[in-house]
Amino acid sequence: MKLLVTAGPTREPLDPVRFLSNRSSGKMGYAVARVARQRGHEVILISGPVSIEPPDVQVIQIMTAEEMLDAVEKNIEWCDALVMAAAVADWRPALISKSKIKKRNNSDFAPTVHLERTPDILKRVSARKGNRVFVGFAAETENLEEEAKRKRIEKGLDLIVANDVSATDAGFEVDDNRVILLPKEGAPESLPLMPKLEVAERIVKWLEARS
Ligand code: C5P
Repeated sequence: MKLLVTAGPTREPLDPVRFLSNRSSGKMGYAVARVARQRGHEVILISGPVSIEPPDVQVIQIMTAEEMLDAVEKNIEWCDALVMAAAVADWRPALISKSKIKKRNNSDFAPTVHLERTPDILKRVSARKGNRVFVGFAAETENLEEEAKRKRIEKGLDLIVANDVSATDAGFEVDDNRVILLPKEGAPESLPLMPKLEVAERIVKWLEARS
């Protein structure tokens, strides 16, 4: 199989030294890329800024949601499956200052930052899905299954991997994850707390069974 995997956060600049981002470490997406490679698949990994060792696959480094969209669009025709594990920023500063925004000495000046939506990558490539399998992730703090199902339908996914990010032992930044696999067809599967590498193996095996 040819797998296109996205991982990590995106960074949305406000000025040359500041940005808006999120807590994604990239561990889940990197685990999917690593396991897929080990199991003999071809992998292109599109990664936001993270501080973990990449597996032995082609890595495309990006910063912003717009750059990630561009990289996904360029490689979507190539792949058999898209795994969107990236935590794409939902909003970005509507204006990017070319120079560093100054505090303006001796004043209480605080800028107001206007945000705008970033492109929804899955929605933007959905028209080119064809026979490709699309997998998404849903990180939620409440109504986990309900919210995940809604996203799976809204984004036209074959599988959504739901994780409760309000738990401290799983989800963001840590090595373990507790997820529910919610396929479009078939029953949901709740997995116990396990290393992200094992979650990745379940996802890759699910893809193998589909192809
Ligand atoms: O952010 P949200 O919860 O909607 O993310 C659900 C899925 O959609 C994830 O797989 C994520 O990678 C993807 N996503 C996207 N483009 C965005 C935001 C999220 O493709 N702008």
